[in-house]
Amino acid sequence: MAETRIIRELPSHIGDTVTVRGWIMKSRSGGKISFAVLRDGSGYVQCVVSKADVPKGVWTDFGGLTQEMSVAVTGEVREDARSPGGVELGVTAVDVIGSSTDYPITPKAHGTSFLFEHRHLWLRSRKQAAIMRVRNEVVQAIRDYLYDNEFVLVDTPILTGSIGESAGTLFETDYFDFGTAYLAQTGQLYLEAAAAALGKVYCFGPTFRAEKSKTRRHLAEFWMMEPEMAWYDSVDNMRLQESLIAYIVERCLERRVGELQELERDVALLERVTPPFHRISYTDAIVKLRELGTDAVWGADLGADEETVLANAYDKPLFVYDYPKSVRAFYMKENPENTDLVLNNDLLAPEGYGEIIGGSQREDDLDRLLTRIRENDLPEEPYAWYLDLRRYGTFVHSGFGLGIERTVAWICGIPHIREAIAFPRMMTRLYP
Ligand code: ATP
Ligand code: MG
Repeated sequence: MAETRIIRELPSHIGDTVTVRGWIMKSRSGGKISFAVLRDGSGYVQCVVSKADVPKGVWTDFGGLTQEMSVAVTGEVREDARSPGGVELGVTAVDVIGSSTDYPITPKAHGTSFLFEHRHLWLRSRKQAAIMRVRNEVVQAIRDYLYDNEFVLVDTPILTGSIGESAGTLFETDYFDFGTAYLAQTGQLYLEAAAAALGKVYCFGPTFRAEKSKTRRHLAEFWMMEPEMAWYDSVDNMRLQESLIAYIVERCLERRVGELQELERDVALLERVTPPFHRISYTDAIVKLRELGTDAVWGADLGADEETVLANAYDKPLFVYDYPKSVRAFYMKENPENTDLVLNNDLLAPEGYGEIIGGSQREDDLDRLLTRIRENDLPEEPYAWYLDLRRYGTFVHSGFGLGIERTVAWICGIPHIREAIAFPRMMTRLYP
């Protein structure tokens, strides 16, 4: 009996006869020799069979392989310098496990909506699988970085009573006798409570925004990683963001070279992503944007196009800090030197990817926070517990939210964030 192996292990089994289970990516039969590419999740291997070397039945079975059939292939691992993994499989037996007739996704080009309608199958394609592996690396890099830097993971609730961001973008659901609950748009407020207990904390989970936006950077459900740090001011906050992003990119460059190659990513652009990142105040950014030919006006939030124009003027990520208070959330701390501004930042990725992080120092003064809640016409009652954090041992603290899909899309160099998550939820999509 041949031993069962995964494709990734094959280079260390040259000369052995092994069995590999997987799916047929493509096959090509000739008069004397036939080929198939097998995928098992750990890699890809070319399988070769020559008519003269195998019983007739094996030759016929191999010739009948179709795209995405699941099979167990047995053969000898042979060195083959031209193959990606350096080996090929000289097939001696093939066992069909699951047939596959008329697989919908063929090597010809398909439209985007067709591909998303078949997302459950499209994930099997090389590029999509490569994106998922980069995503996995990004997530693992984040977790490792935070663990090594003494952050404590605190899972915050998805069903919430109070409101984090803007009320217009909330998904609602019935909640027993309490009426309406909302799907979380952020875990931040809860993390602020946890930071007073644990110092440096983070949450990482699905985040829900019912934004009716059909842009290439908005999903209705996305994953956000939010750290919150006691005793960090806005400057410390940006320094952490810079260090974390540089680490994530470095990890992908180190460990996901093959995937980035598969995606035809220009890695030279990623190699530049080292600290320090550029920093510009919102006020200076408006001046710069006008110089660059836009009609940006002080007091309005930066739009996606403006973010692109601005970020294109720099060769690595760009911090834009101290936005007008009027365009930012109530919990951001006022800049003591100019109370029209808050101590916040966005981090803009290069190459037109726009905002990947939004962060701020939080308002730690009870009276100012109450004023902000009232100015924003927010109900006070749901925030009673949040205000307690300023009543009992208030503290300087800051945090941010990093969007996973936007980060993955940027690192992969893909145009739309919907490919950066396995099953995207958008205004226009709930299937599959
Ligand atoms: P934008 O202005 O681009 O809509 P935002 O300022 O509303 O984003 P934040 O509340 O600051 O977003 O959220 C923090 C991060 O979460 C963003 O920087 C982004 O990376 C990510 N993010 C926010 N909304 C979405 C969304 N709808 N889909 C995917 N990622 C998102
Ligand atoms: Mg933001």
